[in-house]
Amino acid sequence: MALLIHGGRVLMGTPLTLQPADILVESDRIEAVGPSLPRPAGVRSIDAGGHIVLPGLANAHTHAASHLARGRAGNWTLEDLLTYSAANYGFRTPEDEYLSAALGAIEMLKTGCTSAYDLYMAVPAITDEAFEAVVRAYTDVGMRVVLAPAMADVVFYQTVPGLLDLLPADLRGTVAAMAPAPTKGLLELSERVIKRWHGGADGRVRIAVAPTIPNQATDEFLDGCVRIAREHGVGIHTHLAESKVQVIESRRRHGRTLVGRLADHGVLGPGFVGAHGVWLGDDDLRLLADAGAAIAHNPGSNLRLGCGIAPVREMLDRGVAVGLGTDGSSCADNQNLFEALRIASVVSTIRFPHQTGRWLDASTVWDLATTGSARVLGQAQDLGSVAPGRKADLVLLRADSVFLRPLNDPVNSLVYAETGTSVDMVLVGGRVIVEGGRVITIDEDRIYDRAQAAAERQRATSGQAWQLATRLAPYVGAACRAAVATPLAIDRYAASVPAGP
Ligand SMILES: [Zn+2]
Repeated sequence: MALLIHGGRVLMGTPLTLQPADILVESDRIEAVGPSLPRPAGVRSIDAGGHIVLPGLANAHTHAASHLARGRAGNWTLEDLLTYSAANYGFRTPEDEYLSAALGAIEMLKTGCTSAYDLYMAVPAITDEAFEAVVRAYTDVGMRVVLAPAMADVVFYQTVPGLLDLLPADLRGTVAAMAPAPTKGLLELSERVIKRWHGGADGRVRIAVAPTIPNQATDEFLDGCVRIAREHGVGIHTHLAESKVQVIESRRRHGRTLVGRLADHGVLGPGFVGAHGVWLGDDDLRLLADAGAAIAHNPGSNLRLGCGIAPVREMLDRGVAVGLGTDGSSCADNQNLFEALRIASVVSTIRFPHQTGRWLDASTVWDLATTGSARVLGQAQDLGSVAPGRKADLVLLRADSVFLRPLNDPVNSLVYAETGTSVDMVLVGGRVIVEGGRVITIDEDRIYDRAQAAAERQRATSGQAWQLATRLAPYVGAACRAAVATPLAIDRYAASVPAGP
């Protein structure tokens, strides 16, 4: 059924400006955009007077499982977060996973995000039932998603350089007894969920493969992921050079940079997305650009975990596609892309003192969260702008919001002043999902109540795992500090030293 959104001011054109325009939606796509469109008989209408209409933002990297663990991280590095994985993600039912995913989807929609690339992870392993619960959460809420089962067949503790030598005998024994997941089983599950879910919910659900961290993937697993991605025409997403420890470990274990190893295995290509890319060298960027690969930039997470600042300016200079993400709530705390927009811009200034032309300005980061993330999701033709032929993923902001008053430069205001709280209405594929600032497809309050109960029960049952992590963490920290003492040429990126004139 057709829908006319009339009387609003629409952010569109090049450069982006606010223009009075109506939007005619047919089925799930935008049919026409322009001033005073005729209203065909029988068409539903939405009065967008007093509103600013934006394309839905797209979150290039998040984790459905992590929202239930929001607020558990203290001063944690990435390696601390991974040490606490079992405590945070274990001891759950499929229903807990449903609630965690639903929380994230609700938060994204309420802050103007209509689609996400989600690496769903579980401890000790992803089951078909848990994956089904996450798909159901996204479809119940009504959000668009590229969902990938994120998996590893190498135990994390084996990938921290020097860790095993530091551990006292009892902890070394505990770590040695941790068995990696069987490679064959992981590949079979990846293939099974693709066959079952890819293209579901009228195309709003897509599936990808995700060897979660290259150092935690055997060569056999990487090769299997590449085969599956090719056979089924789906994407590959991994955490790429998120921390310096990972770069050091890849060289130690494989004699290659992370990107070099992925290139050797044929992982890179237009369907490849690397999350973070904080610790990439010039050769890595060249390999990614030549392959037509993309990066999901998550500056809020990178700062929270002390990982550093990704060389996004260099990525863009080289022609690497970049999208903007939040990362999961266990390390990014929230799913608010308006916050990510602001952080992405302001943190870029630190790397280039007095070189303002090298900073990521408002329009650049706006592009990352719209067209850039659409490209990361493999849906560049469908998402990211308000134009005929695109999916009708639209966000209506209240123009009378204090954050948008006065409105001078709209893109500057959206990036630096807007907080996401001005979001009034959100449509995904022409369907109204948020109205009056509330998600109307599910009962928000009921999800919050059940999620609170689930988190409290999970916290109580994960006590022993938490204690084990608390014992291991100081040794993991010591091993990491020793590892990162090795100087690398790319230290200049994350250490914020200007690259020169
Ligand atoms: Zn992540």
